[in-house]
Amino acid sequence: MENILQDKRVYELLEKVDRDLALKAQAGGCEHCGGALHRGDYPRKPRGGPGWEKRYSFCCSREDCRKRKTPASVRFLGRKVYAGVVVVLVSAMMQGLSEGRVKRLRQALEIDRRTLAHWREWWMRTFVRGVFWRAERGRFRRPIVEEKMPLGLVSVFGAEQSEGLVRLMRFLLPITTSSCKGVMAM
Ligand SMILES: [Zn+2]
Repeated sequence: MENILQDKRVYELLEKVDRDLALKAQAGGCEHCGGALHRGDYPRKPRGGPGWEKRYSFCCSREDCRKRKTPASVRFLGRKVYAGVVVVLVSAMMQGLSEGRVKRLRQALEIDRRTLAHWREWWMRTFVRGVFWRAERGRFRRPIVEEKMPLGLVSVFGAEQSEGLVRLMRFLLPITTSSCKGVMAM
């Protein structure tokens, strides 16, 4: 699993998915008034990615509306400081790796102990108890061990490989937008 975070192809795939999601969001127009949407990206520099600098976002072009529309993203998991794939994979690895390997990984990615503990807490409480997971967990043929989240998701999606990882990030899309703010708040 460590190697996949070095795999450029994964990041390219994720970029492509986000571009497509953004185009689709823009084509749909403003949800409030139907006006045309203009680019109004958020500057975001998540750690652990390939150096991404912004998250796609749009603004309604009509003066009296100006509402924002931020498409879901496979790169940014809510407002977390790290790229979504790092949050998912490193959290999963913590569930299965020896302490020594966790430490090396943490140092390599410059993630402090508190951040890791925070992610763990988030998966165990906020994610597992949230509306998204409660609605989705029934779709898996075999129940996923919630005490070991997100390791169970990583194995069921085959997210140790690039295609599986992209599939998993797509699955998590609904929790990456502000409409699910309560779920993502960290
Ligand atoms: Zn509008």
